[in-house]
Amino acid sequence: MAQPEKTLRLILGDQLNASHSWFAQPDNRVTFVIMEVRQETDYVAHHIQKVAAFFAAMRAFSDHLQRQGHRVIYLRLEDPQNRQGIPANINHLVQSRGFRRFEYLLPDEYRLDMQLKDMAASLPVPAGAADTEHFLTERHDLGEMFAGKKRFLMESFYRKMRRRYDILMDGQKPVGGEWNFDTENRVPYDGRVPIPAPLTFRNDVSRLVDMIRRSKVKTIGEIEPRQLIWPIDRPQAIELLDTFIADGLPRFGTYQDAMTLKSWSLFHSRLSFALNTKILRPMEIVAAAVNAWQKNPKRVVIHQVEGFVRQILGWREYMRGVYWAMMPNFEGMNFFGHDRPLPDYYWTGETRMRCLAAAIGQSLRYAYAHHIQRLMLTGSFALLVGVHPDAVDAWYLGIYIDAVQWVEMPNTRAMSQFADGGVVATKPYVSSANYIRKMSDYCGACAYDPKKRHGEGACPFNSLYWDFYARHRDKLASNPRIGMMYRTWDRMAAAERKRILQQADTYRRGLNSL
Ligand SMILES: Cc1cc2nc3c(=O)[nH]c(=O)nc-3n(C[C@H](O)[C@H](O)[C@H](O)COP(=O)(O)OP(=O)(O)OC[C@H]3O[C@@H](n4cnc5c(N)ncnc54)[C@H](O)[C@@H]3O)c2cc1C
Ligand code: SF4
Repeated sequence: MAQPEKTLRLILGDQLNASHSWFAQPDNRVTFVIMEVRQETDYVAHHIQKVAAFFAAMRAFSDHLQRQGHRVIYLRLEDPQNRQGIPANINHLVQSRGFRRFEYLLPDEYRLDMQLKDMAASLPVPAGAADTEHFLTERHDLGEMFAGKKRFLMESFYRKMRRRYDILMDGQKPVGGEWNFDTENRVPYDGRVPIPAPLTFRNDVSRLVDMIRRSKVKTIGEIEPRQLIWPIDRPQAIELLDTFIADGLPRFGTYQDAMTLKSWSLFHSRLSFALNTKILRPMEIVAAAVNAWQKNPKRVVIHQVEGFVRQILGWREYMRGVYWAMMPNFEGMNFFGHDRPLPDYYWTGETRMRCLAAAIGQSLRYAYAHHIQRLMLTGSFALLVGVHPDAVDAWYLGIYIDAVQWVEMPNTRAMSQFADGGVVATKPYVSSANYIRKMSDYCGACAYDPKKRHGEGACPFNSLYWDFYARHRDKLASNPRIGMMYRTWDRMAAAERKRILQQADTYRRGLNSL
């Protein structure tokens, strides 16, 4: 169908999908607009690397489109004509440049979806929205699949996706006879195989960082402005993918839950930024992993590749579906009624708890922590002490390079804080020191004793763990996956239970000095 003349098309910072049909060929009746706006830098305090990486990737994408012959308006944060909000900028452009139509790509965040819908309805020209052509499911597929159900089971969703896309399938059966290789996966790192040095880039974003600082955008974390480590364009993202497939994938599943002081990313891909900005497509990553296994199944064995495919084809799409099924009520959920602020060390990493110091420290340094650090260290601790889910959400949404609400919120509020009361997780993800000691080398280097529940030097995770269950007995006791925990608690001597609760109380009162 012929384009109406003079169309303005908006591309958001996480819509950098070069293979979108919008960009199939240049059309001088179409102008794209990409904008750096305070609306997006200020809705939460972001990590400085995150702001710099988004802007650098947006600028690289604009350059790429212009090299392809597309017309692009790029609004920099400091441009005098920048009105710092998306609707204000679009309104101004439409009116001042005489565009006769406005189009946008469907945003992945609810707040933007609402904002753009409202704006489109009030513009003086006709408007339309198009799909981002990125995801493997539609927004509401998952909600429809689990309509009327109390729980959204990731495993059923994942199997459906494997069948639908014919990934690692042998007819109707999973390749290797199993859908899940968890028993072979998830072992602690034993030092036997070397961890590959993470491929990092040296993007010089110093001028961008100067601009961000001049504009007084409030940020958190550290940056080396001449060496932004994250991929900002397609060639870099592809290089990161190829490196991961060669060096990380062969051990991915085995060590996916391991934590160590020896490395900040172990065998993880660190592809989340490139994926969430849509520089990479989920299916090209899945295909690269499957292809590596097909080519050399002895080097990349099935449980490694299945563990990885599950993350992208399963968890990522599932979380997106959860988000759209649960918004907008999701944002207000607080099953346990938690109300405390985050401890101060979430902003500094300065705590004697070695595990938290490591996870928070590397988050401030690299804007990255891997899944188990997020879930079982920072997330679990915040849940144990009773932090308000709003505060936990804001921290995760700000600190990670890959944080966008559609994926951050289901992971944080639902999976890690159980604030949805169990739609996503079957039980709260909390642990005592036992799990952390088993899966990491943190405890050996810690000021606290992982074996002590109370008394001098007792690991805070231990007493806080029991205190959490004791406090929330009315909400959790009927959960069949937790019953055993209460039986263990009830079998403890009354004096021991008292000492544990007293210890937890002391720690909760002096939370900022742990
Ligand atoms: C509290 C909490 C908050 C999180 N916030 C975010 C977030 O804001 N953005 C984000 O992309 N991920 C988030 N995750 C999920 C996960 O931790 C990150 O996707 C992962 O650590 C990114 O690193 P990676 O690329 O090295 O991942 P890998 O371990 O190499 O995994 C490969 C890819 O699988 C996908 N993936 C893996 N696990 C998940 C998951 N649980 N949900 C969705 N996708 C997944 C990611 O796209 C990731 O890049 C969060 C997890 C928790 C527990
Ligand atoms: S002893 Fe406790 S606080 Fe220290 S590293 Fe182990 S789990 Fe963390």
